[in-house]
Amino acid sequence: MCNAHSQTPTETASHPDPQALYRRKFLQYLGVGSVAAASGGLTSCATNPETGRRQFVGLAPSDAQLAQAAAQSWTAVKQQTPTSNDPRYTSRLKNIGNRISRGAGRSNQRWDYAVFDTDTKNAFVLPGNRVGFYKGMMDFTDNDDQIAAIMGHEVGHVAGRHAAERYSQQVAGQLAVAGGTILAGTQLGKNCDKSRTRAEYNNCVNSARRNTAYLQQALGLGFMLGVALPYGRRQELESDRLGVRYMAKSGYDPYQAVRLWEKMGAESGGSRGPEFLSTHPTPERRARELSDYITAQEKLGSRGYRSLDIPEDA
Ligand SMILES: [Zn+2]
Repeated sequence: MCNAHSQTPTETASHPDPQALYRRKFLQYLGVGSVAAASGGLTSCATNPETGRRQFVGLAPSDAQLAQAAAQSWTAVKQQTPTSNDPRYTSRLKNIGNRISRGAGRSNQRWDYAVFDTDTKNAFVLPGNRVGFYKGMMDFTDNDDQIAAIMGHEVGHVAGRHAAERYSQQVAGQLAVAGGTILAGTQLGKNCDKSRTRAEYNNCVNSARRNTAYLQQALGLGFMLGVALPYGRRQELESDRLGVRYMAKSGYDPYQAVRLWEKMGAESGGSRGPEFLSTHPTPERRARELSDYITAQEKLGSRGYRSLDIPEDA
């Protein structure tokens, strides 16, 4: 994403692409890209200190804004789905969560955990460190280490800033696809430039803001409806590896993550597999890749688990 958007072929320093300029103006109207637009809009990338990977997050709101937006989803999902108060689930999850967040160097942050009282085999994390586990997922595991494997994976999504990345990708995708809307934004911008008085200009800009706010809302809603965003393959692999890194650092047995994926693979051979593995790659492949990764990292002793070692073509 970063490379693909680093510069459009027609855009050079001496010949700025008017489309790109309009896109930036449009993003400024949107508000989401004000910082990004100033630093180059779609070109904006950041290196994640946890993963060492350059990622495209320039179109996402700030982490605080994302967390605030996700708060609504968190409340909604807790209202719509019965939550468990059984300490055999809630205390267990909280203890494992606290241990993993310490291993991930994030114990100074606030974490929220909820156990949903359904037999769904799923778990998710929302921006703002909110981790949801369904009872069915916890029942499916054999031991604390396997719950820690899922917890580590979810914390990996946070550390990897995957929600911001996904949000950016979605907005960029929408902008690329919704050519008509971009044009509308562009037209609005152009019209405003023709304003004869400051009042007219302000009016024009305000109406442009309102119109683009609708789009922003629509995009935001799409994001929220997803609750747990569908992550890409690289993000899933990254979370898997970060997850076992945190397991190792918190004294859990990382190989239990492999056992868990094997078990999920066996389960998905049936009519309906656990929801947790609904995204690619296949559980068998994840188990294999994790096993190879853990073995390689453990051989490195104290130097292990420092790199994620994800193949370029992942
Ligand atoms: Zn995931």
